Amino acid sequence: MIEIRTPAEVDEMRAAGEFVASVVSATAAASKVGVNLLALDKLAGDLVRRRGAVSSYLDYHPSFGASPFGHYICLSVNDAALHGLPHSYKLRDGDILSLDFACSVDGWVADSAITIIVGTPAPADVTLLEVTSRALDAGIAAARPGNKMGDVSAAIGEVAHAAGLSVNLEFGGHGVGRTMHGDPHVPNDGRPNRGVPLRPGLVFAIEPWFMLGTDRIYTDRDGWTLRSADGSRAAHFEHTIAITDGDPLVLTARA
Ligand code: MG
Repeated sequence: MIEIRTPAEVDEMRAAGEFVASVVSATAAASKVGVNLLALDKLAGDLVRRRGAVSSYLDYHPSFGASPFGHYICLSVNDAALHGLPHSYKLRDGDILSLDFACSVDGWVADSAITIIVGTPAPADVTLLEVTSRALDAGIAAARPGNKMGDVSAAIGEVAHAAGLSVNLEFGGHGVGRTMHGDPHVPNDGRPNRGVPLRPGLVFAIEPWFMLGTDRIYTDRDGWTLRSADGSRAAHFEHTIAITDGDPLVLTARA
């Protein structure tokens, strides 16, 4: 069911958005060569507890997960695209790391992701991150009243296709509210002027994720981490936004 938030409710959601943005920034800043993924997860958990926030991931056990997630943040390295389960691994020079974090503050969820390069950047990775980030910006720019969700999807897909990347449609954005995953679905490719009309008060996550060499994925033996089928690297950028009368409000904008 698609829910429309009142202006007062959208205002209440700002606190969750700001906190999620701060955790994404803090964990990304701590992601240096030699740092263990479990230390980054611990940092996220410490910040959640200190804020009195409620993790959206710790007990999360959807149909596509083998068991409750059991951690505070998704950490996906190199060929891992989404849902990376934190494990004991020390970041290496040239790794790319996607950090995807969601939690609720005062009963409202926000969800955001970023991909960073650890240490020395490889040109192909710089391009992949730039394209994926630009697709998020294009999707956000299309998130205006009078448009439809297909306009958001088409804007994202267009950036991917122009860069020669194909789009996997198995996972995409989603409505965000009292829980992390609600309606409507936000596909990362589509046709303009189709789908759900965008109205003020509609709050959802836009989250393009692209892989350099394939649009196919498989699930790691850990039961959670989704990896590219050919081992190519993946990037993922996400913001939670609210449709307003004018420009979209990016609730998870980083300072
Ligand atoms: Mg997310």
